[in-house]
Amino acid sequence: MIVLGVESSCDETGLALYDTERGLLSHALHSQVAMHEEYGGVVPELASRDHIRRAIPLLEQTLSKAGMAAQEIDAIAYTQGPGLAGALLVGSAIACSLGMALDKPVLGVHHLEGHLLSPLLASDPPEFPFVALLVSGGHTQLMRVDGVGQYEMLGETLDDAAGEAFDKSAKLLGLGYPGGPAISRLAEFGDPAAYKLPRPMLHSKDLMFSFSGLKTAVLTVVNNNGGAANVCEQDKANIARGFVDSIVDVLTAKCLSALKQTGLKRLVIAGGVGANAQLRASLNAAAKKKHFKVFYPELEFCTDNGAMIAFAGAMRLKINPQAAQREYGFNVRPRWPLDELRVI
Ligand code: ATP
Ligand code: MG
Ligand code: FE
Repeated sequence: MIVLGVESSCDETGLALYDTERGLLSHALHSQVAMHEEYGGVVPELASRDHIRRAIPLLEQTLSKAGMAAQEIDAIAYTQGPGLAGALLVGSAIACSLGMALDKPVLGVHHLEGHLLSPLLASDPPEFPFVALLVSGGHTQLMRVDGVGQYEMLGETLDDAAGEAFDKSAKLLGLGYPGGPAISRLAEFGDPAAYKLPRPMLHSKDLMFSFSGLKTAVLTVVNNNGGAANVCEQDKANIARGFVDSIVDVLTAKCLSALKQTGLKRLVIAGGVGANAQLRASLNAAAKKKHFKVFYPELEFCTDNGAMIAFAGAMRLKINPQAAQREYGFNVRPRWPLDELRVI
């Protein structure tokens, strides 16, 4: 069965073809980062309009890379939520119109389920059950995953998501948008002893997170140095290092607690922050020491993409072929908790 995936929840337009027999056939992605950069963040109306412009050329590219005609698609999976309402509407409308035109069934996919299952696209995929740390731009959640659609929330952030903390702290250092990768690169040159920033909720004895105070700590350090414009490059790197060390310490410690609490030996990392080199190094070292196995998505599938949506759709269809329907009226779900997804 060949599933077309359509992702448009935020600022990436992603299309992909996944075959349940042969795996991922092709995918194409357009990131709007350059367009939103001058505003310092995603402008929802611009995002929606750009999805409209990009979707069809990306679809054509995806089909031609796979050497396929649109008629060969068996079902279409699209991101139904959560995300920006206008952006979600574009992907949903495109998927449903395509389904109607081709007479193919469609299904709405949960964006976070896409992220969560993305490590299963890798060459050495984890088996169920596992603990998943979902660290993206909008979410930081620890989950027990017993199978597709079987998600138990273990803990989440009370305020900012980890990716949001990366982006906001990077902005405070004048590193542009989205600053996650930039602050991480800069941190490599920083002195770990220069700035010891707080480790929020490290000893909270639960699996909750809080990152807004960490961003405030970065702001205080920057202000104490006379503002970002007056902080020299080395000191920026030192602050970046203090920030990254703090966030990586907290994420690693909470993953270890979640593994201990569940008794599981497999940890899966998903979402954009899962691309972070320092986080991977810390978790790999912990895995070696504590004898558990850690799995990541391929780097290109950490941030938003169509492949994870095609894959999540295919997994749902494997379990329940009725999950996709020839019903082309759609509604998007900009807010949609993942643990409401239980029923297949
Ligand atoms: P959500 O999936 O919660 O709706 P999103 O789709 O915006 O949010 P993703 O695409 O999964 O989130 O990830 C984007 C986030 O990942 C951004 O905050 C970005 O800064 C962060 N990120 C990407 N690469 C890195 C990196 N190497 N280090 C740290 N953060 C990173
Ligand atoms: Mg994005
Ligand atoms: Fe995402």
